[in-house]
Amino acid sequence: MMIPEAVKHFLIKHKKGQGFYCVELDEKFNAKHCYGEAKELGISPPRLGKPIVDFLPVLLTESFDKDFEIPFYNISDNHVCHVYFTRTNDRIFLILVDKSEIFHITKKYQQFAHDDNISKNMFKRLSEDLAITQAQLKKSNQEKATLIAMLSHELGTPLTSILGYSELLMNEDINIKKGLTIINRNAVYLKQMIENTLIFGRTEAGGIQKQLEKVSLNTLFSTIKSIVLPLAEAKSLKIQFDFTDNEVINIDITRTKQILINLLNNAVKYTDEGFIELKFTIKNNSYVFSVIDSGIGISKSQQISIFSPWERIEESTAKGAGIGLFISQKLAEAIGAKLSLKYSSKEFGSIFQLNVPIQKLTNLKIYSPEETKKICQGKSILIIDDDPDILELIDAFLYSSGLKIYTAQDMIIAEKLLKDNGIDIILTDYYLGNVKSDSYVKKFKSMQNVPMILMTALPSSQINVQYKAQGFDAVLPKPLNSKKLIQTIVQFITKKS
Ligand code: ADP
Repeated sequence: MMIPEAVKHFLIKHKKGQGFYCVELDEKFNAKHCYGEAKELGISPPRLGKPIVDFLPVLLTESFDKDFEIPFYNISDNHVCHVYFTRTNDRIFLILVDKSEIFHITKKYQQFAHDDNISKNMFKRLSEDLAITQAQLKKSNQEKATLIAMLSHELGTPLTSILGYSELLMNEDINIKKGLTIINRNAVYLKQMIENTLIFGRTEAGGIQKQLEKVSLNTLFSTIKSIVLPLAEAKSLKIQFDFTDNEVINIDITRTKQILINLLNNAVKYTDEGFIELKFTIKNNSYVFSVIDSGIGISKSQQISIFSPWERIEESTAKGAGIGLFISQKLAEAIGAKLSLKYSSKEFGSIFQLNVPIQKLTNLKIYSPEETKKICQGKSILIIDDDPDILELIDAFLYSSGLKIYTAQDMIIAEKLLKDNGIDIILTDYYLGNVKSDSYVKKFKSMQNVPMILMTALPSSQINVQYKAQGFDAVLPKPLNSKKLIQTIVQFITKKS
């Protein structure tokens, strides 16, 4: 059937060369004639004489009182068209213009734009993450560089004294006691510095674990005093320790000592005249240690930042790296305690306070030196460490225990000693040159089924979960504590016999 002129005009205006289908309607909007191929739009023709809404239900909402257009109507599975209703020259037409192609292209563009948006967002998020990581890396690198610069200076100074005085002693140019005192003081300072640095590394790696032990305040405070007294005396400061001698407390000795020494070191550093004091009380089921000084104090505005790493107030000429308080606070957290600046003013000085909640000790029996000797008499220990100085040190630690001591610097010697002698307990380092001692546990245990204790400087959180799986019976952190070493050995020997 010939397409009416009016429809032709309409199509030229709207269709832009794409497929079409046209239905002419009567006055009651029933289908009258059809023009074009319905199947090109994937549809069947309408039934003539029947309402057009039967053919296209979407028209139900239309009033047909004026021309209208429904754009992008999904007319069949693969076809989308614009639906036009128009009256021209008193004739009524429903014209479907195929817009599938343009629809699909638009959809593709939309999809593309959507994907592009997602990619852009992802990219934005990635570059934000990257910027954060970069900033963290930069900060961590700066911190490391600061740490190394500070360490070379801080370690170099006491080492010079240690080397100088030991040389003088070797040449007998100086009074032995005086020389040894200076060497010891500097070595203690070095040890503190190294421990702080190691802890800094461990706190970064999140690996400190609490170890509760019984200790008398007298023992705890006298070691601390022996370290701080020479420093205070060198500045003519009065030093006072306020506690009841016979009090025995359950505490993480190493960490508490480390914190208190850091605080007292600071008290000495930042006090030019007057006194420093360490006070102990029990309050609200907590041990309360207060470090008080009459020093330069910290202004209110600076009090918030002193616990952050690398924060220093450059008011005093005292040297420091600015990690002492940061580390002390991390240590306090690790042992479940709280470290805070209780008071500080330029006028009166400062009070730092360490609050340690009292905890029950689940520890095993503590053996006296006499009991230790009795238990260890006739027993023997094999100590394996590739550092001869450490072997000698442990030998000295165990000298009064009564144990027979065998030492080996490598696993081959250790194996031979184990083959030829009756051994009751083995104490071994983790790294022995290229060899790791865990690869020998099975073999040694099959030769003589004895407890094996591991000594290691690896972060405790890491090793504490590993050592049992590796076959060791206990682990002791380095640097070794002589008392802890002896107590651990005795516990195993009593268990065995
Ligand atoms: P460092 O002493 O190595 O600089 P710290 O972390 O121990 O680092 O202390 C951070 C800063 O807090 C110090 O630089 C000092 O300004 C201030 N500070 C710490 N303790 C005291 C104190 N007892 N009196 C006055 N200022 C102190």
